[in-house]
Amino acid sequence: MDFQLLKKIIEENSSFLITTHVNPDADAIGSEIALYKVLKKLGKKAHIINHSQTPYYLQFLDPGYITKKFNPDNDKKYFEESDVLIGMDFNRLNRLASMEKVFSESKKIKISIDHHQDSEEFVDHYFDDDKYAATGHIIYDFIEQTGIVELDYEIAYQLYAAIMTDTGSFRFERTTAELHRVVANLLDVGVNPVEVYDKVYDQCKISKIKLLGRALDSIKLIGKNRIGYMCLTKKDIEEFNASESDTDGFVNYTLSIEKVVVGMLFIELKRGFKISFRSKGNIPVDKLAAQFGGGGHINASGVRFHDLSIEKEMNNILKKAEEFLNNKYQE
Ligand code: 5GP
Ligand code: MN
Repeated sequence: MDFQLLKKIIEENSSFLITTHVNPDADAIGSEIALYKVLKKLGKKAHIINHSQTPYYLQFLDPGYITKKFNPDNDKKYFEESDVLIGMDFNRLNRLASMEKVFSESKKIKISIDHHQDSEEFVDHYFDDDKYAATGHIIYDFIEQTGIVELDYEIAYQLYAAIMTDTGSFRFERTTAELHRVVANLLDVGVNPVEVYDKVYDQCKISKIKLLGRALDSIKLIGKNRIGYMCLTKKDIEEFNASESDTDGFVNYTLSIEKVVVGMLFIELKRGFKISFRSKGNIPVDKLAAQFGGGGHINASGVRFHDLSIEKEMNNILKKAEEFLNNKYQE
């Protein structure tokens, strides 16, 4: 990774627009705010504009409301006026949803900082490597290797939240000794891991936990009990007055069941539906998601359908998942 080039781009320009994917998670928001704070320390102008509003359960990362939901009437100017556009934690333009067009049409310098596989060509400079467990870890290495600013508590706090969540609290595949050393350095500057975990995972609205109950109740096993899937309808989500972001993490429960190696969560949206895929070991669910036009990581991927009906498509998708597993993985 050419961090010196990233440093040079930052030093040679004065205004930056940072953005991330639809339905952002803590890696997306934490990485954005950490980089924003780096830029501010250097006296740069910076804005964070996302398609989605920051989910309420991550607002603690952004008490000053730095992250803004994209308002086309007001915010297009930032895509035209900023010297550099920085996309974080995604590698497909369509993950920008309503901002896809303004981002792609902008003539400004565009860079991507990301840890997904098989990036689409959509920016001028890539700072991406899928060996990283989180985009926040890339930002950490950038700061550490270039010394562009001093790592302070405020930046470390964001990076810890990013890394903790994208590693499933340090249990997913890319959790390495090196990553734990990084985390130790974040704790050394004062981050309290008990506090961050509590804020992210143990301050749920009761409606979210009830919705989880509904999702757990919906689990079915197919493919010789090696695939577990759950489904939440629009009605379920409305009943609990919940939103898509409330379902973050639900799909992982499917993998808690013995024998299950592929987990899926179907969520009916206001328009269309989305699927989250998860897997154990070397089963590449990003390839499964790609069959439907989605993508992601080996063990965590997803896809969104804007116009299709969940009822009509579900059986066919489940059949394809079974075929995929039969081809890729024999007992
Ligand atoms: P989640 O299931 O948590 O929404 O997403 C898991 C991962 O799948 C994300 O980190 C992202 O990499 C990927 N992903 C989710 N939805 C999509 C999608 O619609 N398109 C692509 N290309 N990747 C997605
Ligand atoms: Mn990430």
